[in-house]
Amino acid sequence: MHELSITQSIVDAVCERADGRPVRTVRIRVGILTAVVPDSMRFCFDLTTAGTVAEGAQLEIDQPPGTAHCRACEKDFALPDLVLLCPCGSADVAITSGQELQIVSMRVG
Ligand SMILES: [Zn+2]
Repeated sequence: MHELSITQSIVDAVCERADGRPVRTVRIRVGILTAVVPDSMRFCFDLTTAGTVAEGAQLEIDQPPGTAHCRACEKDFALPDLVLLCPCGSADVAITSGQELQIVSMRVG
């Protein structure tokens, strides 16, 4: 379960930015290829925000699907997991989305 350490870093960053103001909502973008489980993340968020300015804040999670570009056939295709294989059989592919892990916005006050 890597959600705990990821969530801890997010909460640290959020609390620092909040600068003492109470945090109401945190929206994050977590690509499907990061293998983060949103429900676990919510659980960890409640744990790690306890006693901080973000305690009780609502966590909103956007989960962009994975996509990749194949250098062999020049096509873009969906990447449901980390098996980096184009339908054409080539492994010469570049991930174009699904690995995002960022704080998109937060509401304080
Ligand atoms: Zn291909």
